Amino acid sequence: MGIMADRYWIVVVVFVALSCLIRPLDASAGDADPLYKTCVEQCEKTGCVGENCFQHCSFSSDGVSVDGKWYMQEPLYLRWKQWDCQSDCRYHCMLDRERERETRGNAPVKYHGKWPFRRVFGIQEPVSVAFSAFNLAMQFHGWLSFFLLLSYKLPLRPENRKPYYEFSGLWHIYGLLAMNSWFWSAVFHSRDVDLTEKIDYSSAVALLGYTLILAILRTFNVRDEASRVMVAAPLLAFVTTHILYLNFYKLDYGWNMKVCVAMGITQLLLWAVWAGVTRHPSRWKLWVVVVGGGLAMLLEIYDFPPYKGFVDAHALWHATTIPLTYLWWSFIKDDAEFRTSNLVKKGGNWLFAVFMNALSSGTSSIFVHPSV
Ligand SMILES: [Zn+2]
Repeated sequence: MGIMADRYWIVVVVFVALSCLIRPLDASAGDADPLYKTCVEQCEKTGCVGENCFQHCSFSSDGVSVDGKWYMQEPLYLRWKQWDCQSDCRYHCMLDRERERETRGNAPVKYHGKWPFRRVFGIQEPVSVAFSAFNLAMQFHGWLSFFLLLSYKLPLRPENRKPYYEFSGLWHIYGLLAMNSWFWSAVFHSRDVDLTEKIDYSSAVALLGYTLILAILRTFNVRDEASRVMVAAPLLAFVTTHILYLNFYKLDYGWNMKVCVAMGITQLLLWAVWAGVTRHPSRWKLWVVVVGGGLAMLLEIYDFPPYKGFVDAHALWHATTIPLTYLWWSFIKDDAEFRTSNLVKKGGNWLFAVFMNALSSGTSSIFVHPSV
């Protein structure tokens, strides 16, 4: 995740910029090797690499499955079969090539933009999948505790029972987009085919674009609807067009990387500058996320091959976003408490609000001790 991107910026930024940055190169040293190419071509015809034969590769010459039951000729089913065949062929040809390279004392090379990973139960990159799942869980935990804080711990506006915090709806959407992105990151690292790649890229770009909008709205404290729409509309239009371009015109890794880096760096700078000038009590959390995210990015730059075929720099990068996500949501919750207490005090009905809240939920003491 995967990445992005995140929230604000930083987590998100880092996460998304990375997920865009990372696996962008289509052709790599490994798959440019003529021996590898020949092996894959042969395998897709014969269905075998050496002694290993794959059941998904049993096509007749016109592309229709040889065991031609009607339901097996469904285009989608055939498509899956071809994906499985191609994936099995590439994997076993890669293992063959790498075994040979190792005996000659050569270091591992990348294939189709990825290091030679060892599969576990058919999962291509089990460690990245596990960390993506942890990130997903962490986003869910953060979002849930944010939801509970707003609904049951902070006072609500007496007139409509809605939160005082003006950015609550925007953070809820952020939580959904982030969870969506990590879900598809886990799927993509399990099985890397055209479809999963496009959905993963699209989710990461959507998250990164959204977090840029959120960064602008929060750091400039844009609160009225009309101004928010003015900021969001052009960015939403651009991000939508970009996603359509990637999916239906050309999956241009170089261009996508530029877009992701531009959006990521912009929001990172916004949060960093804001953390520098604001008197926000939790600005240190922003700093930690920005610096931590920057350090994590080094993992993406100093890419190294997977240790024992499992743990590579990308997997570690997914690991580092887990604590950063925790801290990020912690900042968001602090922000909700901070804004709420300012608004309630300004409105002069602080005591009234706490009283109302006590009546309705019985947990108002938590608000009186905001450190909780
Ligand atoms: Zn990833």
